[in-house]
Amino acid sequence: MFGPPGSGKGTYASRLFEGLRIPHISTGDLVRQEIKNGTGIGKEIEGYSKRGELVPDDIIIELLRKRISPSDCSGGFILDGFPRTVPQAKALEKITSIDVVINLDVPDEIIIERLSSRLTCKSCGEIFNKRFLKPKVEGVCDKCGGQLYTRDDDKPEVIQERLNTYRRQTKPLLDYYKERNLVENVRNTEAAVPPEKIVKQILDIIKARK
Ligand code: ADP
Repeated sequence: MFGPPGSGKGTYASRLFEGLRIPHISTGDLVRQEIKNGTGIGKEIEGYSKRGELVPDDIIIELLRKRISPSDCSGGFILDGFPRTVPQAKALEKITSIDVVINLDVPDEIIIERLSSRLTCKSCGEIFNKRFLKPKVEGVCDKCGGQLYTRDDDKPEVIQERLNTYRRQTKPLLDYYKERNLVENVRNTEAAVPPEKIVKQILDIIKARK
């Protein structure tokens, strides 16, 4: 799943699991897990994440490598938030091959609107929104009952920095994948489109490519 922060990578990836039955791997969740657990790596990467910058390639590649080695990934997986740089893409090629890059194409105004009202589950990482994707019970995760919170990097001053980081370091990667004929574009210009509608579109693309 490729696209700027707030384009819906995590929201759709967690629902794609229902149709594809392969794990959803979010490197953002892996990063937050390390920070929450206070590991050595967590302490090293906390600052980058808080400022909206990318974590150094070697660290993130190692976290991903560890996550995709267990047997639950042998039948495939959905990557959300990885790769974000060309060196990460090259490292990924050494570990596995990818079938398709779903590019979530969403205008900046919508992204800022969504991220400034996003809520995330402290326990399982599921994503909600105060305005566009409300949980059934305020402040409580529909999926696991965990507590919902506003991520440190969903604060307005950090959102802009994350968009800059995306444009500078991650967007160029799209050309890399276009040259390899892997990119499928999914454009969405509304803030409150039902996730199921986009998920269906993505599943149709995947079926058609098989
Ligand atoms: P977003 O909503 O911005 O896509 P994520 O939850 O995917 O956010 O990631 C949160 C933070 O974790 C990023 O701002 C970055 O610091 C770090 N991170 C996640 N994935 C990567 C990656 N592939 N490379 C470097 N840093 C990453």
